Amino acid sequence: MSMSAKREWILIAGIMLFMIGLLGTGLALIYSVIIAVVIYVGIKVYVGRKNLKLRQQIPEGICAHCGNKITQGKCPNCDIQT
Ligand SMILES: [Zn+2]
Repeated sequence: MSMSAKREWILIAGIMLFMIGLLGTGLALIYSVIIAVVIYVGIKVYVGRKNLKLRQQIPEGICAHCGNKITQGKCPNCDIQT
């Protein structure tokens, strides 16, 4: 199982627990499900936007060694041409 799939299941499990908690407070099942779905969609949209923003800011990714922003295929820290 990939990391993102694992994270997806952790998110779903967390929301399911939250939904059970809502049911425990006496909230009707239908409202608990609606709230859980709204939170799930909200998190997906938030994470999607954050990833998109990150891709726009660092289109070439970050250096695996120092975490610096890669520009023109090089890390300014580790790939200094002398
Ligand atoms: Zn580097």
